[in-house]
Amino acid sequence: MARLDRVVLNRMSMWRAVVRELLAMALRSKRPEFRNWAGNQVCMPADRQWPSSTKEVADLISSAHAQGQRVKVVGAGHSFTAAALTDGLLMSFDRMDRVEMVDKENHRVLVQAGIKLSALNEKLVEVGLAMPNLGDIAYQSVAGAIATATHGTGLKLGNLATAIVGMEIVTGTGETIWCDELQNAEILRVARVGVGALGAVTKVMIQCVPAFNLHVAETVEPLDDLLDGFAENAEGNDHFEFFWMPGARRAHVKRNNRTLRAANPPGKLDHFANKIVGENIAFDMLNRVNRRRPGAVRKVAKYLPGGVEADFVGRSDQVFASPRHVRFYEMEYGIPIEALPEAFGRVREFISTLGMQIMFPIECRVSAADDIPLSTANGRTSAWIAAHVYKNTSYDTYFNGIEKILDDYEGRPHWGKLHFQDHRTLESRYPEWDTFAETRAKLDPTGTFRNAYVDRVLGPIS
Ligand SMILES: Cc1cc2nc3c(=O)[nH]c(=O)nc-3n(C[C@H](O)[C@H](O)[C@H](O)COP(=O)(O)OP(=O)(O)OC[C@H]3O[C@@H](n4cnc5c(N)ncnc54)[C@H](O)[C@@H]3O)c2cc1C
Repeated sequence: MARLDRVVLNRMSMWRAVVRELLAMALRSKRPEFRNWAGNQVCMPADRQWPSSTKEVADLISSAHAQGQRVKVVGAGHSFTAAALTDGLLMSFDRMDRVEMVDKENHRVLVQAGIKLSALNEKLVEVGLAMPNLGDIAYQSVAGAIATATHGTGLKLGNLATAIVGMEIVTGTGETIWCDELQNAEILRVARVGVGALGAVTKVMIQCVPAFNLHVAETVEPLDDLLDGFAENAEGNDHFEFFWMPGARRAHVKRNNRTLRAANPPGKLDHFANKIVGENIAFDMLNRVNRRRPGAVRKVAKYLPGGVEADFVGRSDQVFASPRHVRFYEMEYGIPIEALPEAFGRVREFISTLGMQIMFPIECRVSAADDIPLSTANGRTSAWIAAHVYKNTSYDTYFNGIEKILDDYEGRPHWGKLHFQDHRTLESRYPEWDTFAETRAKLDPTGTFRNAYVDRVLGPIS
């Protein structure tokens, strides 16, 4: 072949390759990829849908079930685990976010399950109500939060699922069921914490409380004192928690108590300096520096806004939840509350031998026992130990080491946070494991709501 012909052919094949790549890119961008908040879980579902009514949800599930397609509902994508991933149909309930009924007398609201906690909180304020307790963010959907037993802190307060007194659920076969204290009461008891494996929750009735303010007292105290006085602190405050930066002798303590006093929250400038700059922008910067030059961190830290102490009265939901712009990975374990001081001491000891600069605090909280079979606080008053690392940081050695310690206390991992357990290691830690399995077999007999995470942590449907 003449040289000129070869050059022309090479150019043509090069252009063909470029066109092929561009086409593939265009196709890929049309495929409905899902990525969670932390960015560590990604899937490429065959189909994504945003239904706006229970009827649409039921039709979509019936048709998927008939075709043997798997289904998942994603809330706000704030789980660190693969709980919401699927290669089948992924539904978002962002359009199912209405408050359908307010029962002022009994302090109850009926909402569509896709409503975000932040939006719900604002609606509740308008009618003089509030959630009894919340975690430290309010970005989650109601259904997503209860599915994983999301909790706040408070010895006398259960996780968010314990506030659910009614639920509409579309099962794995497309049947719509309402359950409350009078109808299908046992399904309600179990399905409040369903890990997304029982069906699509389309509506929930929430038992709220009259709106309340919290007196916030934030201090810095010696860690040893906090561990010695852990039980008294947990009992003596409505909401007690502390954050300990590995290596430090002292910890940041929050004692929030209900008050009839009027709110006098910090001004916008203080809020911006502490919550946005201190807890987010500067903290992010510190973590970036640590990733590149671990030795430089101490020098940078002293220039950051200090002063974590605070004393004010605020609206409950605004006190509980804060903005979180720094992305991280998290593991959290529930253990029997009496084991906390010893277990925490062992975790502290382990970290001191780790040889890794941990830039996120360990968070420690408490919550009340409940009767929900798969709730992480089922049958026991719990203390929580949560470990975090900055996004894109390797966490295996750190999280694994803590998990091994907490295994000795029958630790139960948060369903939405990272862990290394499977159904064989978890089953014996839940006295009502079989009750959940029976309900699952009834509501999702053919495994429409299975995915790799559910297979791993719940095992086969039996
Ligand atoms: C920054 C941050 C802070 C956090 N703080 C706390 C905290 O303080 N306390 C705490 O306990 N946890 C906390 N979490 C964890 C978080 O609350 C849970 O992972 C929660 O499940 C996330 O809710 P989501 O709406 O994003 O649900 P997703 O992560 O989207 O889904 C979680 C599970 O619920 C299922 N699901 C969602 N909607 C439905 C539905 N309608 N029907 C059936 N199943 C459904 C999904 O399939 C999946 O299995 C935090 C997470 C992050 C990222």
